[in-house]
This record gives sequence, structure tokens and C-alpha cells, in this order.
Amino acid sequence: MSIKNNRLTTAEYEENFTDIHPPFETPDAALVEANRCLFCYDPPCMKSCPTSINVPKFIKQIATENLKGSAHTIFSSNIMGAGCSKVCPVEKLCEGACVYNLMHETPIHIAKLQRYSTEKAMDNNWQLFERKPSTGKRVAIIGAGPAGLSCAHTLSREGIDVTIYEKESKGGGLMTYGIAAYKVTPEFCEDEVNYITSIGGIDIKYNQELGKNVTVEELKRNYDAVYLAFGVGLARQLDIAGEHLEGVEDAIKFIYELRNNDYSKIAVGDKVAVIGMGMTAIDAATQAKRLGASDVTLVYRRTQDEMPCTEHELNIAKLDGCKIIWLAAPKEIKGDNGKVSQLVCDVMKLGDPDESGRRSPVVSGETFTLEVDMVIKAAGQMPFETLVKNNSFENNKGKVAVTDKALTNQEGVFAGGDCVNGGREVVDAVQAGKDGAAAIVKYLFGQDYILDCELKPTFNN
Ligand code: SF4
Repeated sequence: MSIKNNRLTTAEYEENFTDIHPPFETPDAALVEANRCLFCYDPPCMKSCPTSINVPKFIKQIATENLKGSAHTIFSSNIMGAGCSKVCPVEKLCEGACVYNLMHETPIHIAKLQRYSTEKAMDNNWQLFERKPSTGKRVAIIGAGPAGLSCAHTLSREGIDVTIYEKESKGGGLMTYGIAAYKVTPEFCEDEVNYITSIGGIDIKYNQELGKNVTVEELKRNYDAVYLAFGVGLARQLDIAGEHLEGVEDAIKFIYELRNNDYSKIAVGDKVAVIGMGMTAIDAATQAKRLGASDVTLVYRRTQDEMPCTEHELNIAKLDGCKIIWLAAPKEIKGDNGKVSQLVCDVMKLGDPDESGRRSPVVSGETFTLEVDMVIKAAGQMPFETLVKNNSFENNKGKVAVTDKALTNQEGVFAGGDCVNGGREVVDAVQAGKDGAAAIVKYLFGQDYILDCELKPTFNN
């Protein structure tokens, strides 16, 4: 057993990491699917979307071959509508709420339809929004991830000039650096950032890290308002013996490296254990398999009923040949010459519900051992607690504490997305960015000001 790179041929890497979302084969296929929609009154699909995309409206627009209108409807609510159509857990959001489920029929393929019109818009560089005349106001945003970009686009539409300070060399945040490459390719992420900023009035300064290259105090002095959207940090520690051994990896770092390098450069073990069962755990496990690991096992301390990932995600892992061990928690990592050789796990059983409402795992007293050469930690992410505290922000278990959706304890400083909620879906971050922009606009122009994005969506074609 060993950890090594270059396990596959170029063709195999390419095949393993191609986009898993096949588009409609023909425009007619999209039309047929759009015409299945019942265009429900009071549509549950729209209510279950965190950004409230008017689903029946955009599908009706596809059905009437008004693709520009359809893309406009989607982007009006969610400027990352193209990316979200690839990464949203739609089976627990819009598609899970579609009335077809009640009839035990396949729900409308909302994500695929959304992808159909938004990708057309991006491919043709359709400019669907106009910036209002400049107001002379300037806002600084920390982080060019989904929350930061969504906030920036909403502010730009209102005639506000935005400067985004991004610590990485590319924008997109979690989309670019934290999601499996076969769901969103690096090229797509770059195109999406360029498409969003093409409205104008948004300047992204790359390789600028808060606390290192730029400070909150400096931004407060130089801008009319500041929005914090710096996300969350590395994976939570396991706090078990052997965590320091060579071969123990952080899932976020593993995926980050994979998204930043040629696949052949990423080393992976023969036998890999991944701790956790969230989306990051699934992405790490499936990508380890696709990099050429012969054996990948997901270890989760609860059962399938409590898992944070969706059924769809679980099925991707199963189809990739990943094994799953339920009711098992890491107890100790053993090594040989400083390198991982075994993972000892406690067998768990379910006890009473914890604060999350899920039955909590309790040690049963039994253990088992897995022979592994790599352990990937994906049991949640840590907030940037030091950054929050060093900048004198009120914190909520290390996250930025806000009131009224986006207000921090400092005048003129707002926050949203993962740095506030600890890490949710991309679509939640997009909505947080809109909420942040609304709070900033009302701070700058008064509470009665109504933003374009706040105008009530209509169902007219
Ligand atoms: Fe169409 Fe389903 Fe939404 Fe009804 S619930 S509007 S059928 S997508």
C-alpha cells in the first residue's frame, strides 16, 4: 500500500472527471420536458428554492422558446443560477417539492432546464441586466465566493461600485475550490465569475487576504460600507491519536489541491477511509476513487436516516464503488514508520436525539480495524474564529454574529454566507449575498429604497 500520484492515463483522468450533467440532447427534448410542467399556482418548487426562483415562469418561457426571458427570470433571483443548476441538492429542494412526486411520477427536471437556459445565456454572453447610473457609493467585499459575488452583482445593479478582496487567485469560492470537479469544471467556474462581473462596476483584487494584505479598519475608512463573505476554514479535527501521521488529509485541502492542479499530480492512497457523510465527504471519496484509489470506504457515526448528504450524492458514491460503513466513529489512527497503516473505529449505536434533532451516536464498546494508507477528514468545517475575534466582531461559536440577516456589531459592516451560518449550500450563500446587498443599500440610501431584486416576481411570460 502506498500514497502516490499518476495512477491513471490522461484519457482515464479525463473520462473520470468529465461533467456528470449531460445536457438535453436536442432543443426539442428541452421543450418536451418544459411542457410536462403543470405551471402550478402557488408553486411548491419555487417556495423550496432559497433564492425563490420563479420556476414555473422560467419553464413556461422555455416552453415558448423565450430563452433570454427564461435566463433573465433565473438570474434575477439567483445570479449563480447556472452553477446552482449543477451543484444544488435539488432532490431536497425544488425537484423534491415538485407536485409530480405526490403522483409518484418523476418530478420535472428543473435543474436540467435551468442549466439549459442559463448556459445558453453564458455561452452567448447575453447581457440581461443594466447597471443604474453611478451613485458614487463604494462598497468593499471580502471574498469572491457565492455570497460575495451575489452581493456584488446586486449592488452593481443599483449603481454602486464594488471592490472584492479575494485571498485566492481565482473567484468562485467554494464552487471553484471546494466541489468535485466532475460536478463543476474549473473552466465553467471561471466563465461564471466572468459572466457575473461583466455587468461592470465590480473589481476583483486577487491574492488579497483579510488580516494579511488588507484590514477591516482600512476598508471602513476607504469605503461607504463593507461586506464580509470570507466563508469557513479547514476540516474539523478528529482529536484522536495518530491524527498527525503522514497520510491523514483534510478533505477541503484535498479537494482544493485537486481543483488547482493537474489530476495526475494529486497523490492518493490504495486504501482510503473518508470520515463523514456530508457533501464534502462524498466529493472527497468519489474523487479519491476517480484518481485511482483501489478501495475507498466512507465511515459515518450515524445511520443513513441521519446522513447530511442527499440520496443522490450517496448513489454517486455507491456507483463509483465506494463502500459505506454506518454507525462507526474513528477511535485511533495507527501508523508504520510515521505513515498511516490502520484506522481503528468504535462501533456506535443510536441514543437520544441531540440538539440537531437527530439521534446521537453512542459508543457500543465494540471496535473494528480497517487496513488503510490514507484517512481523509470530512467531519465538518471550522469557522475562522481568530479572524472574527481579532477584528472585534461579535461571534457565535466562532462565526460572525449578525442581527436582521446581515448586520454585524460594527457600524457599516455587514456579513453573510458561510462565515455567518457555518457552511450551507451555494444557493443559501447566494441568497445571503442578496440579503446583505439589500441591507447595505438601505443603510446607504434609506429604509424606503426598493431594490430591483426585491420587486415581486410575476408569473407572466
Ligand atoms: Fe412545474 Fe413541478 Fe413546479 Fe408544478 S411543482 S410548477 S409541475 S416544476
